[in-house]
Amino acid sequence: MSGLKPSEKIWHNGELIPWDEANLHVCSHVVHYASAVFEGIRCYNTQNGSAVFRLDDHIKRLTQSAHIYRMPIGYSAEALQEACLETIRANEMESCYIRPIVFRGYHSLGVNPLPCPVEVYIAVWEWGSYLGEEALEQGVDVMVSSWNRLAANTLPGIAKAAANYMNAQLIKMEALQNGYAEGIALDSRGYVSEGSGENVFVVCNGRLITPPLAAAVLPGITRDCIMLLARQLGYEVVENDIPRETLYIADEVFFTGTAAEVTPVRSIDRISIGSGRRGPITEELQKAFFAHVEGRVDDTHGWLTPVYAEVGATVGS
Ligand code: PMP
Repeated sequence: MSGLKPSEKIWHNGELIPWDEANLHVCSHVVHYASAVFEGIRCYNTQNGSAVFRLDDHIKRLTQSAHIYRMPIGYSAEALQEACLETIRANEMESCYIRPIVFRGYHSLGVNPLPCPVEVYIAVWEWGSYLGEEALEQGVDVMVSSWNRLAANTLPGIAKAAANYMNAQLIKMEALQNGYAEGIALDSRGYVSEGSGENVFVVCNGRLITPPLAAAVLPGITRDCIMLLARQLGYEVVENDIPRETLYIADEVFFTGTAAEVTPVRSIDRISIGSGRRGPITEELQKAFFAHVEGRVDDTHGWLTPVYAEVGATVGS
């Protein structure tokens, strides 16, 4: 697997600094106790120029994650949105992945994070399709993980916090070591929850079902897009608990996420799903999703924030 491709500049507490200087001390609180919340956002090279997809919703989730963990960010949502755009511009990116991260820095190493300064960084880098270009068309083979997602009132699942990704890493490593692209974890009650970095949708008899937030899922922004687009296309969409065995007998299953976009699942635990390839409803939703993120349809939801100039503006207008 290829490593991270550095860009030029990283935003740190209001300043743009060189990529190689964005370092921290090993005794920073976050290194020991995972005291960080973050976001993963994509900037697409749309046909009207570069634009960030659902920037305001991602920043809102970031500020909510920080709020849950009593981390005063010190920047307004508007300032953070502008900082993301500034970082993309400083790196002259056309399309990229954007990673704002807020964490407890260097001061003391007791568990109590409150004396430690809150640091805010924003990095951007080039990132292609997460589960592979082929996966978007062919689908991926996944397993039901032996690891459960976070139980209620342990680690808050609604916060996108670094600590949650220790659980995600267990799910991901187990899947990879067993020859699968990804794992689907159940919640602590045994109902379907989500992938290590994706929400899950199941299609049964033309109806879409996705687990509710109480099933330990991250309130995915792509999940929200797909629910909305599916309803617009006339499909019924419900948030219901999904028993594990429903996965095997579903007509279609797919993942959603900023990184994974809309990725079909073609088999689970070596049981083929539906026809064993991308299903028609998954394909229809993929098309609708990519038409939006690539700016090929009117941005009626206001999902695209232009980076360099007004998206949709024509020369001379
Ligand atoms: N669940 C988890 C655990 C994730 O890490 C992600 C990626 N942020 C998602 C779901 C999908 O969320 P989104 O669509 O907002 O990227």
